[in-house]
Amino acid sequence: MTVGRFAPSPSGRIHLGNILCCLLAWLSAKQKGGKIVLRIEDLDTARCPRRYAQQMMEDLLWLGLGWDEGPLLDGRDESYFQSQRTELYHAALEQLERRGLVYPCFCTRAELHAASAPHREDGQTVYAGTCRNLSASQREERAKLRSPALRLRVPDKEFSFMDGHMGHYVENLERDCGDFLLRRSDGMFAYQLAVVVDDAAMGITEVVRGADLLSSTPRQLYLYQLLNLTPPTFYHFPLLLAPDGRRLSKRDADAGLEHLQGHVSAKEVLGKLAYLAGFHPSGEPSSPEELLKEFSWENVPLKDIRLPEKLFSI
Ligand code: GLU
Repeated sequence: MTVGRFAPSPSGRIHLGNILCCLLAWLSAKQKGGKIVLRIEDLDTARCPRRYAQQMMEDLLWLGLGWDEGPLLDGRDESYFQSQRTELYHAALEQLERRGLVYPCFCTRAELHAASAPHREDGQTVYAGTCRNLSASQREERAKLRSPALRLRVPDKEFSFMDGHMGHYVENLERDCGDFLLRRSDGMFAYQLAVVVDDAAMGITEVVRGADLLSSTPRQLYLYQLLNLTPPTFYHFPLLLAPDGRRLSKRDADAGLEHLQGHVSAKEVLGKLAYLAGFHPSGEPSSPEELLKEFSWENVPLKDIRLPEKLFSI
């Protein structure tokens, strides 16, 4: 059975980009007769307080985008919050440490920026490997001054996969990414590790998410391989951009549900998003169930989608 998921990071009220993500994940799984798991990605507890998660769930329910497994359903709410799942991440990290694949990194943000070249097209930097080969005594010295982050050694090897929407994607981990973080210096586990551990533990077979995470996928595939886990199928969809071409963020108030609710219905929001995503030509207000008949990945564009100046007349 297809098991999809919503994996929002509740660092504010959801905006049209987050809603499109959940809509596509829901449609893609349900069209195959599958189900949806809701996992709250609140590893960064300072940025993702509980009240935002609560609001996010209310928003999803208002939109008619329910889930089949997750908080509010089976009385095990805590187990769907990443902040409560750190033991699992510890266990995975230990497995990798035992194999000698993890090392401490003492670089400061400024050092990382100065040493990490070349910068990639997507703005991410490639880790230069500064702390990769420190001796035991160098590590000891540095640890007196600063608690280290932990990085995974990556091989000079290509990782490729067939994205369900974007097609073939390949990256050489050493050249295009460098050794990547598993845990930050403040002890917070990195998204890459947590997402792999959780998607596997929750039996997720299909991941639908924005194209900004396409380049994370080779790192995640490497982790799946090392941890001996089965990866899901990935579908990356184009990002929704603000009318001026910037990436939509929680700061774009008029794209936030906060601004829309009370002026437009849930069906209007979904109808317009489905129109922008290419599979609902009329743009008529629609429920997720109504959109199931029309949804097809083939009609979703490959290039980023710019929001019009006025999506709704409010
Ligand atoms: N929590 C991430 C976000 O809200 C999504 C991660 C994923 O889908 O893999 O952007």
